[in-house]
Amino acid sequence: MKSPVTVIGLGPMGSTMARTFLGNGHPTTLWNRTASKAAPLVEAGATLAPTAAEAVAASELVVVSQTDYQAMYDSLDGVDLKGRVVVNLSSGSPDELRRASEWTSAQGGVLVTGGIMVPPPGIGQPGSYVFYSGPEEELDRHKETLAELGDVTFVGADPGLAMLYYQSQLFLFWSTLTAYMHAIALLETAGVSARQFAPFAATTLRELAADGPMGFLKILAEEIDSGAHPGEANSLRMQAVGADHVVEAAREAGIDTAWPLALRDLFWRAVDAGHGADGLSAVVTAIRRRP
Ligand code: NDP
Repeated sequence: MKSPVTVIGLGPMGSTMARTFLGNGHPTTLWNRTASKAAPLVEAGATLAPTAAEAVAASELVVVSQTDYQAMYDSLDGVDLKGRVVVNLSSGSPDELRRASEWTSAQGGVLVTGGIMVPPPGIGQPGSYVFYSGPEEELDRHKETLAELGDVTFVGADPGLAMLYYQSQLFLFWSTLTAYMHAIALLETAGVSARQFAPFAATTLRELAADGPMGFLKILAEEIDSGAHPGEANSLRMQAVGADHVVEAAREAGIDTAWPLALRDLFWRAVDAGHGADGLSAVVTAIRRRP
């Protein structure tokens, strides 16, 4: 007999999580502010609790997936969480997660925070993983069940860490793809299609992640951790001038300049702070300080 699971929140993510637990044979109890969203899951064998308190009472493991942490407060305020491990996989800021951990303790429960790194169709599929933070021993007790959503990746006891990792990955994802769209928009002005450019972008992204002279993910990590920013072969000043040209190219093409300007400004702030002869990794010194 599989352990019971309660799922609070039935948006696209929570519904898929509930369906995954159900499909794996867990007695699954649901609660959602809009009860009607539970109908297809109830048809598949889940139990819809009439109140959030009753849903929580049904299982030691309570998985929450809602728009934000305010939704958890709205849903579970005043609910007895004694003996419950609440695993919240919603988006929030790291400090908010730290506060939520205290809030959950004050209601008698334990909060494990998480950031799930796939969209609904990826849940439970190969390659899916979730960053978790908070009390490791509570996470471990439910690891087998949670692994059904994706690989369990524990990143530390600080409850804010799961979101720091999650948002770092999201920022990387969004900014890389926005830079890709910027490149496409620039090339379009000269009649080059996105499909024509895609293979070149693929080469760059592959090389950045590989070992080799363009393997900058590893190169920058080593330089940043060691605090050395060698720039003999390609100085940051040279690259800042190049970034000016990217801004000019965007202006000439009549496309948006916000993204190139932000990048150019970061480069020049690092140069102006004395890193002109250093290499690209010295840009991190400008990022670390709010101007
Ligand atoms: P939503 O962000 O749209 O979440 C909808 C759920 O939140 C519904 O169950 C909704 O209830 C509930 N909710 C919102 N506000 C409240 C409230 N004040 N009180 C009670 N319930 C509330 O959908 P997703 O399922 O897409 O996302 C869930 C979380 O997962 C989000 O934090 C998102 O950032 C994160 N995430 C999403 C991914 C995705 O691709 N969708 C990928 C990775 C993470 P109701 O039905 O009543 O409106």
